[in-house]
Amino acid sequence: MSLIAHRMTALGTENAFKLGADIARCEARGMDVIRLNLGEPDAESAPHINAAAIAAIRAGNSHYCDPAGLPSLRRAIAAHIQRTRHIDVDPDRVIVTTGGKPSIGYTMQTYVDPGDEVIYPSPGFPIYESWVTFVGGSPVPLHLKESDGFAMTAGGLRKCITSKTKVIILNSPSNPTGGVLDEQALGEIAAVIREKCSDDVRVYSDEIYEHILFDGEKHASIASQPGMEQRTLIASGHSKGFAMTGWRLGYVVLPTVEEASRFKQLNINVVSCVPPFIQEGGRAALESPESAPVVAKMVAAFQARRDRVVQMLNDIPGVRCAMPKGAFYVFPNVEGACRELGILDAYAAMPQPARTRTSPSGLLQRFLLERYGVATMDRNSFGRIGADGEHYLRLSIASAMELLEEGVRRIGQACADKVGCSDFLSEMQAEASLAGRS
Ligand code: PMP
Repeated sequence: MSLIAHRMTALGTENAFKLGADIARCEARGMDVIRLNLGEPDAESAPHINAAAIAAIRAGNSHYCDPAGLPSLRRAIAAHIQRTRHIDVDPDRVIVTTGGKPSIGYTMQTYVDPGDEVIYPSPGFPIYESWVTFVGGSPVPLHLKESDGFAMTAGGLRKCITSKTKVIILNSPSNPTGGVLDEQALGEIAAVIREKCSDDVRVYSDEIYEHILFDGEKHASIASQPGMEQRTLIASGHSKGFAMTGWRLGYVVLPTVEEASRFKQLNINVVSCVPPFIQEGGRAALESPESAPVVAKMVAAFQARRDRVVQMLNDIPGVRCAMPKGAFYVFPNVEGACRELGILDAYAAMPQPARTRTSPSGLLQRFLLERYGVATMDRNSFGRIGADGEHYLRLSIASAMELLEEGVRRIGQACADKVGCSDFLSEMQAEASLAGRS
């Protein structure tokens, strides 16, 4: 009998959190590290939101509450969905969760039996793949192409759907690519789902970046497409748009009250309820007229940074960066830089076990961090299956302009430093062969 249950081997992780230890190691060596790895706004939650939560605590709102979420917040969420997605939602179809993350696991536990297939975007939020394998589902990554603006296409989806498909995950605006599904793309995707999937197939539409769109674009949801409301879970939350990552507040709108009751049961089993004062802050975010200008100001700052960072990245030989349409990430193609720096050759020469632990963009990511003090994320942090031969990095643009400029400047210097990289790669090879011997 082993200490740790076998199922834990199938659970993945989110490297954005794991990278903290590597950064701390570099800082302990005296480096100043620019953190372009974090998936959270650099703004703080707005004063009117903070005030609502503080008032709730002062009013003695310190008890257990409805495990589905406060009825007042669920009504506010239903009204927000009505306003933005143009569908009428019974508040009993809404479940409030501790952040946007829990509903991913809840969805897998509620709908996916071992062997059922789950289609999800790759590159995509790593927690999708993690939960699919944890519940014994079969992961079916739908590879997003740079040439399609990193957005899922109806044609790509059609090829992935089989009679075993149970859940299809959509994420727009997307982490890590910033790709956005517009009304037309969603219409085409919905048509494929209506044609090829039974009524029991569920669409998990992760819309957590719904407030962060550039160039005046408006958010669109697949739930607004004909016949899709009854198949779709709309998942969103306060972390990104309202800069409330540490509050841990999210929600999901389920197709039926019966399905919502299963999510409520999961909440009861895991957290009992979301703290009521947190929910009062979240209600203020959705209902107060003070929120819209705060969000608009943050999005405008992200857009200005996006423009600058994309331009600077495209000026680096060996780097090509598409213009994201939403969220707060850029996802440059670094294949040319990996080739020029000798990383592709060094990777190909590595023994197989060492290769499975990294990737060319993973080596570049470590070189940038350890020799140039810039923290980024590699391609494989956003789904490993079938990602061989894809060479990208994710940079978060949720940092001050000066830090972004300095970070990208350092990336440019690193990409020109063949000698330094060759030295770094020799060190990596020595490390890998030591690890192989022990
Ligand atoms: N979905 C996506 C696509 C995300 O990027 C994130 C956060 N990085 C989440 C869900 C989870 O958000 P939260 O922090 O609210 O749990």
